[in-house]
Amino acid sequence: MKTDVCIIGAGPAGLLASIVSAQRGARTVIVEHKTTACRKLLHTGGGRCNLTHTGSVEEFVRSYGNSGRFLKHSLYEFSADDLRQYFAQRGLETKVEKNGCVFPVTDRASDVARVLIDNAQKQSVEFLYGKEVQSIEKEQAGFSVLFNGKKISARAVIIATGGITWPSTGSTGAGYKFARSFGHIIVEPKACLAPLVTAETWLGQLGGVSIENVVIKAKVANRKVQASGPLIFTANGIGGPAVLDLSRLITDYLPDHDNPIKITLDIMPEYEIESLEAQIISLCSKHPKRALAGILAMWLPKSLALNLCNQISPSQTILASSLQKNQRKQIVTMLKRLPLSVVAAGPIAEATVTRGGICTAEVNPRAMESKLHKGLFFAGEVINVDGPCGGFNLQIAFSTGHLAGKTAAGIVGC
Ligand SMILES: Cc1cc2nc3c(=O)[nH]c(=O)nc-3n(C[C@H](O)[C@H](O)[C@H](O)COP(=O)(O)OP(=O)(O)OC[C@H]3O[C@@H](n4cnc5c(N)ncnc54)[C@H](O)[C@@H]3O)c2cc1C
Repeated sequence: MKTDVCIIGAGPAGLLASIVSAQRGARTVIVEHKTTACRKLLHTGGGRCNLTHTGSVEEFVRSYGNSGRFLKHSLYEFSADDLRQYFAQRGLETKVEKNGCVFPVTDRASDVARVLIDNAQKQSVEFLYGKEVQSIEKEQAGFSVLFNGKKISARAVIIATGGITWPSTGSTGAGYKFARSFGHIIVEPKACLAPLVTAETWLGQLGGVSIENVVIKAKVANRKVQASGPLIFTANGIGGPAVLDLSRLITDYLPDHDNPIKITLDIMPEYEIESLEAQIISLCSKHPKRALAGILAMWLPKSLALNLCNQISPSQTILASSLQKNQRKQIVTMLKRLPLSVVAAGPIAEATVTRGGICTAEVNPRAMESKLHKGLFFAGEVINVDGPCGGFNLQIAFSTGHLAGKTAAGIVGC
């Protein structure tokens, strides 16, 4: 079989690349080893798909941190606004939720997948499902893509095989092997946007308890970092959006069990220390017969309130009327600067995103083409780029996929 452009992987990056390539007139084949496309995308945003974020390209570039510079051109080529327009033009409107996260109005990731698959089919992209690509080889005028004892000869190849998180969805890290065979450096893959494991085992008693808004602070490599948002206690530590975002900022310094990373939780970020203490004094004088835990439970989940009070006075219930000044100070410190020690990130297979992959120094950011081999392209999470929670990672897949599809079609004369 011969084609102009062969894309490996039918996730969001591969699908958008295929649509753009075919739209430009290139014969386009997409090879996917699962029996359907977009397996991971269906899980995104809790099944609702937080497909992008609001903000200008410059704001996106800043949010990506170290990855921003590499992504800039692809974001200008196909921005968050372009993405929302793309779906709106195909009958799927999007909405902005709190914190600027963008979702389809239907709240269904399957609708996002359906628009992409329908559009690719309309553009006559040829889908080869259930075919696991084993290797890619250089031919005289392009490449051979080998799978299940068969081969496709293509003038350009786009590797869009994703990272190595949630391998059951199909992303098993095969793209790294293909890129390595062409001499590309692979930056060691690590868990990014992952729950964190702490040394404090008492958190396990609170497993499943969540707090709507916390601020988490840490210091790594002499740099202060912080993240905010919802938090959930887990069996061995902490998770939730604020924790996932923090994990992205500290993942390069983990794991080091002998040298845990010290973090502090501000469980009551809406109060300054002084005003929080004043509030506690006022509530205790209003409700002298209540237990301190009952007072704190006006703000916090009951089990967390009880747990914090037990840490101050393990054997006796503290009544509001008998709260000592030093106990009050202790509780305020726990609420504003609860110290925890992070010893590891959760397993990479369970992380939301992979940090690491194809080294960006070897990819042309204006084309998504390999600097080592003409005609070889990369798109999406397989590249060593990542973003925070909030739709930034799917935008990477869409923007880099769009650019790779365009330039791959370009080199075959379309
Ligand atoms: C639970 C969860 C929730 C998430 N929620 C969000 C969210 O709300 N917003 C957001 O921005 N991001 C979210 N993400 C991240 C986002 O899903 C990924 O960044 C995105 O899917 C990456 O797209 P991709 O096309 O690069 O790779 P993938 O979506 O991983 O697609 C890669 C495709 O390549 C195929 N493939 C791999 N190897 C081969 C092979 N050898 N042969 C043939 N096919 C192959 C795979 O089967 C797969 O279909 C979430 C991730 C997870 C796990």
